[in-house]
Amino acid sequence: MWSGETAEDPRLVVLPNGAGIAYADEILGDRDSRGVLWDRATVNPGQGAPRFAKIHVHRQRRAMRKLLCQVCAGPADRNDDGTLWLIPDRTREWSGWPEGMAVAEPPVCLPCAYLATRVCPALRAEGHLVIRAREHPIHGVDGTHYREGPHTPVPVTSGPVAFDDPAVRWVLASKLVRTLHDCTVITDL
Ligand SMILES: [Zn+2]
Repeated sequence: MWSGETAEDPRLVVLPNGAGIAYADEILGDRDSRGVLWDRATVNPGQGAPRFAKIHVHRQRRAMRKLLCQVCAGPADRNDDGTLWLIPDRTREWSGWPEGMAVAEPPVCLPCAYLATRVCPALRAEGHLVIRAREHPIHGVDGTHYREGPHTPVPVTSGPVAFDDPAVRWVLASKLVRTLHDCTVITDL
């Protein structure tokens, strides 16, 4: 995101009959083709200073849908072993990582992966790894989960949810999520 772009804070309401959340002033473009409600944000690329830690909701969604590089928005790299991803190392938390993992970070191109792994100390400190995945179906969204409150919906948690999970009706989506399958960890880029 750029500092000239702000995440909006519009009023949310609870729909009748347990149908989930909606915007009080909802318009057609607020939901995707599956009926999931998406976070609103203004679009002003190049306005102000870049905020590298924040991914704009529209650009994340586009990059993830079209498999574009999360850094430069060019096509992500792909070879016989699959599409290239740069993701946090979770091998200690669950066996078989990253097989089946849900990711909200779009893939990367080779030059950006090369540059990021060599010059970005934050990535190394956080223990990111480069992997390839042959299969990476769109799984659902990441966002804020709400429950019914006395007046307005109350945020309870955040995290990924599948499109076929009824709980998705209570989520304000901010990222498109894929799951990674048939993965290879790349040790030498
Ligand atoms: Zn790139």
